[in-house]
Amino acid sequence: MSNIGDFLDVSSEEAEEAKLIASKQTALKDGRVCICGHSSKRHEMNVRGVWQCSANRGSCMCKENRPVIKVDNARIFLRRTVGGGALHALAQGMADALTPKTKKDRNGDDVDVPAQNIEWLIELKCDACGKDAEKLIPVCINENGTIMDHSTAKSLLICRSCRESV
Ligand SMILES: [Zn+2]
Ligand SMILES: [Zn+2]
Ligand SMILES: [Zn+2]
Repeated sequence: MSNIGDFLDVSSEEAEEAKLIASKQTALKDGRVCICGHSSKRHEMNVRGVWQCSANRGSCMCKENRPVIKVDNARIFLRRTVGGGALHALAQGMADALTPKTKKDRNGDDVDVPAQNIEWLIELKCDACGKDAEKLIPVCINENGTIMDHSTAKSLLICRSCRESV
């Protein structure tokens, strides 16, 4: 079997290391999650210039691509919005990401999947009143700004007092 060193002045060790770095960078690129609670990678712009989220076979109505967090693996963000707060797909996905799991490897052995790191990509400010907030609540709103209990074109991260006032 030939190896890279037969062609280039590069050792196989260096080639292996490069593969690792490249895969980590891909994972990083894949790690952004839109406010709708689904990977940014699942968003595509249609011919009319409108973003569409294809998560859960198009059940997500999101019409933007606004990455709000970065995680190790955004592909597990596949929940459905059935309300605001904990019921929003973003909150459900974050809860999934924070739960350590075990999965079966090819030999049927249990492998630990550790909790993911979550990093905010946005300033923690309420989307409604603009005030700094230590913690925000994801909600879906309709065109009139009313909070809905299902997926809509637009999600917001708002503070508790704004949530209670709408
Ligand atoms: Zn989205
Ligand atoms: Zn979505
Ligand atoms: Zn607010």
